[in-house]
Amino acid sequence: MAQAEGVASGGGSGCEAAFGELAEVYDRLAEDLEPLAGECRRCGRCCRFVDGFALYTTLLERKYMLRAAGELAPVKSPPKACPFLSGIECTAREFRALGCRTYYCDSANAERRREIHEKYVREIASISERHGIERDYAALLERLVGGA
Ligand code: SF4
Ligand code: SF4
Repeated sequence: MAQAEGVASGGGSGCEAAFGELAEVYDRLAEDLEPLAGECRRCGRCCRFVDGFALYTTLLERKYMLRAAGELAPVKSPPKACPFLSGIECTAREFRALGCRTYYCDSANAERRREIHEKYVREIASISERHGIERDYAALLERLVGGA
């Protein structure tokens, strides 16, 4: 993938153990979310960050996505959209952040999903701390697109 403007190189061998733990967290999250998933038409709107929507991510999650990005095709995104969005497809789907996984515009089960989200926010913070990775919880675009 052509790196998004302002993107620092992600990953590094020192992150491998943390990436493995993060992948396990995402696997458990998928099990927890399975009965609570909302309706999704896969329109890509939530990845364009319209209507004031922002995706908050930790540095560990961003590093994980950027590591995957090195193996992905070049991405063309409209301004202010997620750099991993191509058309209506997520080009980092397997590596996408917690918020990408727990968000549905469908309000059914939203409160329960929010609770699960908070639980996994804490787990990811714990992984970051154990591996000495700064948490740096911030809006994705602020970090990936250099404040655009
Ligand atoms: S969650 Fe909603 S806005 Fe996001 S892709 Fe699915 S239908 Fe579209
Ligand atoms: S990483 Fe993928 S799912 Fe998450 S906002 Fe970007 S395009 Fe959407």
